[in-house]
Amino acid sequence: MPTAERSHADACPGVFATHDAADGALARVRLPGGVVSARQLRVLADCAEDLGDGFVHLTSRANLQLRGLNRTESGLVPRLVRAGLLPAPEHERVRNFLASPASGLSGGLLDVRALVRQLDRAVCARPELAALPGRFLFALDDGRGDVSGEDPDVCWRAVDARTGALLFAGTDSGLRIPRERAVEALVTASATFLRLRGSGEGAAWRVRELPDAVEAMTTVLAAFGRRLPPEPMRAGEHVVVGEQRTDDGRTLACVAPVLGQLDADALRLMAALAGEVVVTPWRTILLPGVPGAALTELARAGLVTDAADPRAGISACAGQPGCAKSRADVRADAVRVSTALPSGTRAHFSGCERRCGRPREAHRDLLAEDNGYRVDDAWVPLGRLVNSLASSPAGREDNA
Ligand code: SF4
Repeated sequence: MPTAERSHADACPGVFATHDAADGALARVRLPGGVVSARQLRVLADCAEDLGDGFVHLTSRANLQLRGLNRTESGLVPRLVRAGLLPAPEHERVRNFLASPASGLSGGLLDVRALVRQLDRAVCARPELAALPGRFLFALDDGRGDVSGEDPDVCWRAVDARTGALLFAGTDSGLRIPRERAVEALVTASATFLRLRGSGEGAAWRVRELPDAVEAMTTVLAAFGRRLPPEPMRAGEHVVVGEQRTDDGRTLACVAPVLGQLDADALRLMAALAGEVVVTPWRTILLPGVPGAALTELARAGLVTDAADPRAGISACAGQPGCAKSRADVRADAVRVSTALPSGTRAHFSGCERRCGRPREAHRDLLAEDNGYRVDDAWVPLGRLVNSLASSPAGREDNA
């Protein structure tokens, strides 16, 4: 039976069902594996300028959002359909597929990019899976342990070049599934969750809300591979901002939009530099084949291109004026203080207790309150924020 306490229906936004924010409608565009082509970047740039607030916003699930859209008819849908960004309207909100962003480029035990495309096709081919909650998250981890640590509901994580562990709600089930059956196993696991989640307002949104489901899913999936004693699965490192190298010696640029927000010019510049980019769950973007020399141009466009830049570690929720719940313009405050902070500071600014978009890694927690911020439980006036944050650049680990 579902254990979740729900007072409202799943309102996870998409493009057809947008979220009614204080600054207009908010549309979330799903990007399986975070992959966006240059042509799609140009379309998104035009949509942001013509229909929205002029920006594209990165999410912690490697998706993109457009804000400030007309609430009744934004004109967004036909443009995204033509760009191939809405290939399965019925399944639009359930195409939540994380994959190790650098897979096939640098590191990892195998290349999971083809598996992401297969998983997308397989989920969209099953009409009943359109009923999965918009928050349900699939992940394909190439063995480095980056996306398996991002709280997926069902995850196949490579343990060698041919086999992967099946994780439910972040915990190893003990099942070892060959890569050829990884997609089928994830689809079956999601269908099993759907059967068990309950119905109506009490239905569960996430696997972790149904502890009994893990054992049931493990039993249903037993025929897909071997069962071993479960092992601890440590989270691994992810690609950091700056110039990187691919395994075959090509260049790979990793940039971070300030506060996860890209303007149309930055999107068009990236489209001119790379045939395809990969959005990561850490609000960075990988540009394969882009030489280090182009980082200067990207920095001029306002992107963070150096991991030592203090802005690389600062994030914020939407805040005022985009969110009616916010007690402050947290993004303006974050920008104001970020350049004065020591390199390596990790801090998240929130306008209310929900703390939307906070990172999973250790960070300083800043909650807007009475003309200042509650910083890790002590109130600090705006004028003393830099001193307070500089005193201890890291903070608490937040796995919520
Ligand atoms: S944390 Fe609060 S103020 Fe910020 S976006 Fe979420 S609901 Fe709005």
